[in-house]
Amino acid sequence: MDPRVEQFMSNVISKNLGEVEFHQAVQEVAESIIPFVEENPKYKHAKILERIAEPERVILFRVPWLDDKGEVQINKGYRIEMNSAIGPYKGGLRFHPTVNLGILKFLAFEQVFKNSLTTLPMGGGKGGSDFDPKGKSDNEVMKFTQSFMTELFRHIGPNTDVPAGDIGVGGREIGFLFGQYKRLRNEFTGVLTGKGIEWGGSLIRPEATGYGSVYFAEEMLKTRNDSMKGKIVTVSGSGNVAQYATEKATELGAKVVTFSDSGGTIYDPNGIDKDKLAFVMELKNIKRGRIKEYAEKYSVEYFEGERPWNIKCDVALPSATQNEITEEDAKTLIANGCYCISEGANMPSVPEAIEVYLDKKILYGPGKAANAGGVAVSGLEMTQNSMRLPWSREQVDERLQQIMINIHETCVKFGTKDDGFINYVDGANIGGFVKVADAMLAQGVV
Ligand code: NDP
Repeated sequence: MDPRVEQFMSNVISKNLGEVEFHQAVQEVAESIIPFVEENPKYKHAKILERIAEPERVILFRVPWLDDKGEVQINKGYRIEMNSAIGPYKGGLRFHPTVNLGILKFLAFEQVFKNSLTTLPMGGGKGGSDFDPKGKSDNEVMKFTQSFMTELFRHIGPNTDVPAGDIGVGGREIGFLFGQYKRLRNEFTGVLTGKGIEWGGSLIRPEATGYGSVYFAEEMLKTRNDSMKGKIVTVSGSGNVAQYATEKATELGAKVVTFSDSGGTIYDPNGIDKDKLAFVMELKNIKRGRIKEYAEKYSVEYFEGERPWNIKCDVALPSATQNEITEEDAKTLIANGCYCISEGANMPSVPEAIEVYLDKKILYGPGKAANAGGVAVSGLEMTQNSMRLPWSREQVDERLQQIMINIHETCVKFGTKDDGFINYVDGANIGGFVKVADAMLAQGVV
């Protein structure tokens, strides 16, 4: 490791003990930024990177609620307000039993760079709870979210901090959160994004992250005079991002052959077509069932407890969770012919897997660039809320595509090496850093 990165990281680690995902996310960025900062001493003297690695504010709170049996339950609530140099804090809420401070800080940190890359005026934040919506009744989810918002509402607002969805927080949860905020504040404002279309939501928001990750893959492929057409694609997860990545990849002529969840992976060599995708959407979004049921319905293979990375593909779209591709998985993917990876999920590849991608010079779009479509359309939802004027599906989709093209161009600008190889990791990190760093310089030591 570069001794400058080592020294920087030892400081970050000692100040944030045990937060391993946060260390991982900061180190990946530091490896790109520290050499860049050395060449641009104005950022060094103002200690911009050191400041970016420290959240502006961390809010921790108790979330008590009554389950259907009348028993008291207690969860942890969090909001990380990471950086507001270029706009109000913006980033999703995650409800999942694995949620802890380190995971949310890694997500908030990534969000700062991602939001900057979109070119929209949004700072970075993230929040959530260790609450597990799985197996809970609608009533219990409502009770919990109302209690969560009863504390969170005093910290957020349309010009302060605008949360959205993430794992375990979809349309149902955003609805309950918005209802409670409105009741407490007596205000109908764009304080959350991912809202229902009848009450301030934007068309294309549910689709945006998945669509965007495929648009980004298409841009990467274009640099090699290639496209998604005819490609075999593996997708992990079967939630929001996975579903719409599959829809768009299929629309562009690719064949998606896998879905997964925390139980295992299904492999459908004939491809997940429109009708099969509709089945998955009903299964996951309404019945809240397991992906195994797909294998039973369509008589395809199901690999219990496995992820999709052993299956042969040209393009992989990891769309489930962090650290879901190990070094071994990365080697297997490439040995099986995969040469394009576009990350719908946040930090799905471990650092050693990223080294393998870069070493083999495949097309690798890291999450902070490839999945920025979601927050970009959240930004467009905020614009529409401020104007009180909804845009058409076509208008939003066109802007989303243009934003993904612009993010790709930024990565090319800051990530192209002397031999012509595009290192999208450096491209996204440096491209995202510059705007935030300049804003921080202009605003003084705050
Ligand atoms: P959902 O909750 O809709 O879906 C998550 C999917 O991933 C489910 O299939 C879930 O399976 C699976 N999954 C979650 N945790 C694990 C785990 N620990 N091991 C195996 N599988 C797991 O979430 P989203 O689709 O919204 O989010 C997916 C990823 O995309 C996350 O990394 C998120 O941060 C990222 N992302 C999402 C954005 C958005 O707009 N929604 C924006 C940018 C990034 P199961 O049901 O069994 O838990």
